[in-house]
Amino acid sequence: MKEPLIEIRDLRVYFRTIYGDARSTDGVSLKIFENEVFGIAGESGCGKSTLVEGVLRLMKPPGYIKSGEVIYKGKNLFELTEEEFNKIRWKEIAYIPQGSMNSLNPVLKVEEQMIDAILSHTDTSKEEAKQIALEALDSVGLPEDVINMYPHELSGGMRQRVCIAMSTCLKPKIIFGDEPVTALDVVMQKLNLQTIMHLKEKIGLTVVMVAHDMAWHAEVCDRMAIMYAGKVVETGPVEEIFLNPLHPYTEGLLNAVPSLKRKFAKSIPGIAPSPLNWPPGCRFHPRCYRKMNICENEEPELKLIDSERYVACHLYNGGNWK
Ligand code: SF4
Repeated sequence: MKEPLIEIRDLRVYFRTIYGDARSTDGVSLKIFENEVFGIAGESGCGKSTLVEGVLRLMKPPGYIKSGEVIYKGKNLFELTEEEFNKIRWKEIAYIPQGSMNSLNPVLKVEEQMIDAILSHTDTSKEEAKQIALEALDSVGLPEDVINMYPHELSGGMRQRVCIAMSTCLKPKIIFGDEPVTALDVVMQKLNLQTIMHLKEKIGLTVVMVAHDMAWHAEVCDRMAIMYAGKVVETGPVEEIFLNPLHPYTEGLLNAVPSLKRKFAKSIPGIAPSPLNWPPGCRFHPRCYRKMNICENEEPELKLIDSERYVACHLYNGGNWK
């Protein structure tokens, strides 16, 4: 059986609040395989970003890792010291944060920011670091002179490319992108997505992409997971999910995408619940048009439906329609 490059096991990422723990990511297990593009979709607040921040140990108080494991090269990343984890971060596991184009320091030139980042994760000299930075800028289609510019001299799309170059300059094995091209116009979104896909081929990257925009997933992902209320409710090959969504929430998400065939996109009724108080039973039941009695009390498990499809819904029971 194929071994995953990285495996997330029952990860729970919570936030301490005066009302109790907000259970943002609440028991997620996923296997990501080498060289694939894996998408994570769902409404805002479903736990996608906290899942990625948890995997990368980027949580800051009041956020914390409640439990779970992330296995990479046979080791649980949560058992590594900060120093040990720093050797992997960037060099092997990289990250493009949400709103990355605004994460550059406005008072430092691109050169300083890239070289600092490279030096803090490698033992190379400053000259070598500059060479690495120049090659990385070239690989994302930016001219050499960008290295001498301040962020405010670059367009939003170019700033984001600098961030992509910074995240990939050490040729990591896997990159997690949290809404990596959000907030750009559609032309720049497409160009920057193409840049990430080009890097995937060039340096053999595995890409995990968090995005609420289903169109991006359709365009670039091989497999995807749909998250709702802190949990994965469906996972499988993108084409199968788009052509035959099994979970009623996935169906709702796809119906909410505008289409030339429908006059109006159809929204999912109700609002997403609070992580302070997830509904009992199936967390989607207050909004589900196929709800049954069992759904209000019993939480469905994520079950294998066929070779690659997993669904957490009482409508399915080991591959048979109920
Ligand atoms: Fe709907 Fe029940 Fe399936 Fe939940 S378990 S998605 S409420 S049918």
